[in-house]
This record gives sequence, structure tokens and C-alpha cells, in this order.
Amino acid sequence: MSALDIGAIKRLNQRYEAFSEITDVLPQDAPFTFSAKDNLCAKGFQARAGSKILDGYRPPFDATPVRRLREAGGVLIGKTNMDEFGFGTFSTHSGFGVPKNPFDIERACGGSSGGAACAAALIPGHVALGVSTGGSISCPASFCGVVGLTPTYGRVSRYGLIDYGNSLDKVGLISRTIIDIERLLPVISGRDPKDPTSCCAPSLDLSKVRKGPLAVPKECLIGLDRTVKEAFDRSVLGLRDMGYEVEEVDMPSLRFSMPAYYVLATAEASTNLARYCGMRFGVSEKEYHQHFNDYFATTRSKSFGDEAKRRILLGTFCRMVGFRDKYYLKALSVRQAVMKEYEMIFEGHSLVLSPTMPFIAPRFDMIAKMRPVEMYSADFLTIPPNLTGLPHLSIPCGYASGLPIGMQAVAPHWE
Ligand code: GLN
Repeated sequence: MSALDIGAIKRLNQRYEAFSEITDVLPQDAPFTFSAKDNLCAKGFQARAGSKILDGYRPPFDATPVRRLREAGGVLIGKTNMDEFGFGTFSTHSGFGVPKNPFDIERACGGSSGGAACAAALIPGHVALGVSTGGSISCPASFCGVVGLTPTYGRVSRYGLIDYGNSLDKVGLISRTIIDIERLLPVISGRDPKDPTSCCAPSLDLSKVRKGPLAVPKECLIGLDRTVKEAFDRSVLGLRDMGYEVEEVDMPSLRFSMPAYYVLATAEASTNLARYCGMRFGVSEKEYHQHFNDYFATTRSKSFGDEAKRRILLGTFCRMVGFRDKYYLKALSVRQAVMKEYEMIFEGHSLVLSPTMPFIAPRFDMIAKMRPVEMYSADFLTIPPNLTGLPHLSIPCGYASGLPIGMQAVAPHWE
């Protein structure tokens, strides 16, 4: 049961804009409450994935993770704000409100599951369903000072998720404590006949402890803000004091992850967004007198945000005959190379550790001045485990100027 009533949550939301929609009724005897990112379908709520093109869409079914939490007694209290279709790192590309950081409302919550992390930070005992394609659970968890778990690709069904990049998307959990995540991960995990990429083997075993030294890739320590580096170094010292061995390792292919990710993710996104043409899917502009190509262009020009348009252009370009080998196929090889490097590291190490984000939550005026490539570069620490489908966890590891800093641990597949 949430420690706050629905009126209090609605009042909090006026200030922080964590939710795009909130329920009016909250049963007093609910065993627990949860929220779902706006790209997860849920009966009784709109599912707009942060995009105006899906305004008014009310799915008549639950996404599998939502259904499983409801069947376990959970009450869905609302849909959380996000970057349009997951395209972003600060949740500023949302069509329905930009969530504000719980520690300073002049700053971003991170993205694209910014509303989810904000809700988890604000509401005691709250568990938020988030989705990560390239770091969208870790990043906002780090900026909002909460715990974010991104499971192995396939551990949690994607049925009912509005896709960004199908080979990358993962549904996970964000909460103030690891205990809630430990309790609810088994509930949402496991094979679902409706998602052929979901898996039940190897089964989820949360009692297993990985042995061996922790690895910190040298490549992850370059380009960090001083405050982040200091907090991370302090945490490593703390781990050493607790008896853990921590070793620096080389993972040279990590620096190619970010460009490879943006090729693959936009390639997949551009095909996924093709269906929103205002005829079969997406809001209709009702300009039926137009030639169909013009009709699609009118709808898409009006309802997609700038970042979605940028991703469609980038992704379509990377898939074109003549460019496919140079970009798309090369990015696939990078993905393999990064995976090989992780496998080698995991032969002698238990986990790979790094800071989660290279800086603390930025102010909105700073974000407004960032070029797209600067925003993409901010993901260089969260992209490698996402590109390779590896499970990862972001946990708070310190504070600078009163703002939280996160540390990310990556484990082998299914662990
Ligand atoms: N910031 C990354 C992107 O814009 C990751 C977002 C995500 O995981 N959905 O693609």
C-alpha cells in the first residue's frame, strides 16, 4: 500500500510531473502500488509512449509485466512521463510534461524513464516499471538517487510494450530499495507465449552470489565530472575496505559502443515508427482529400517531435542500400566485439563496475544548449551493457552539491 493517498500524489505531481495520467481510485487494502512507464499498455489508461501521435490511444489489454503485477495484488496508480518513444536522456522530449528532479526542480530526472525514477524517489514504497533500450533505467535511477534494475534481455516479456528497438528493449524495475526489486522481479520475469524472445531458462536465482574480483574498465573513467569520479573512487575504496578486490581492466571496444548503438537503435526505431501514419495507427488528421503520401506526411510532421524525426532520418539513412554495410552491418560487428570483451572479463571477474552517468543531473537551461551528439555521448557508460543485453543495476553511491550520483554493476547474462 502506498504511504500517500491519491490526492497527495496528484498534488505532488503538479510540482514534479512524474505522471502523465493518475488513477482516481486507490483501494485502501491494496497490498502494493506501482506505476508503468507510458510505453507499457495497461487497461484503463492511455498508452502514448510520450508521443502526441498516440494521444487518445486506450489499449484494451495489459502488457505482460503489468498483468503479472496486477495478478500479484498490485494496484496500478498511473502512467509515468518519458521521452517520446524512449528517445532521450533527460525526459525533455516528452509530449505530455517534463518530470522535475526530486532533489532540485530546475534539473532533469534523466531519461527516458524519468517519470518512473521520479515517482520511485517521491513516493515511499513505490515500485515503477521502467524500460531501457540504451540506459533508460540506469540513467534516471542515478539522477534521482534510487535503485534501477535492467534485467537480461528476454528475462521479462515485452508483450504490450510500444517498441523503440526490439533487439534492445528491456522492461525493468525502479525503486528506493533493492528489497522491493528483489521481491517483484520474480513476479514479472519468465517465459510468456506472447513474446517469443522471452525466456525462462536459466531460471531466475537471486540467491546466487558471484565470486571473484570486481572489474573497473579504464575506458569508463575517462571524461567524468570531477564530483562523479571522486564519489566513485570513494565507493571503490569502501568496497576494498569491505574485503572486495577491485581491479582496473582494459575494454578498448567500449568506446565504439555509443556510435554502434545509435546506428542500431535508430535503424530499428525508424522501422517501428513507420506504422504511425494516421491511418492504421496514430492520430488521424482527417485530411482525407489528400494523396495518401501527403496525408501521411501531414500527420507525421504534425505529431512527431523533433527528436523522433531526427531518429527516423538517421535510422532510415543507416538502412539504405549503399550505406547498410558501412553503418548497420559494421554496428552489428561492434556489438559482437563488445560482447566478446565482456565474456573475457567475466572469466576472471564477478561484475563490471563503473559510474552510471558521467555527470550529476543537469539543469534544464544547460540541456537546452546541448547539441544532439552531446546528449548521445552522455550515454557512453549505460550503452555497453544494453547493446549486449547484459543485466545491470544502478545504485546510489554518493552525493555532490546535494545531488545523487549512481554506480552501475554489470553481470553476465541471466545472473
Ligand atoms: N538515451 C538513449 C537514447 O536516446 C537511451 C534511451 C532508452 O534507453 N530508451 O536512445
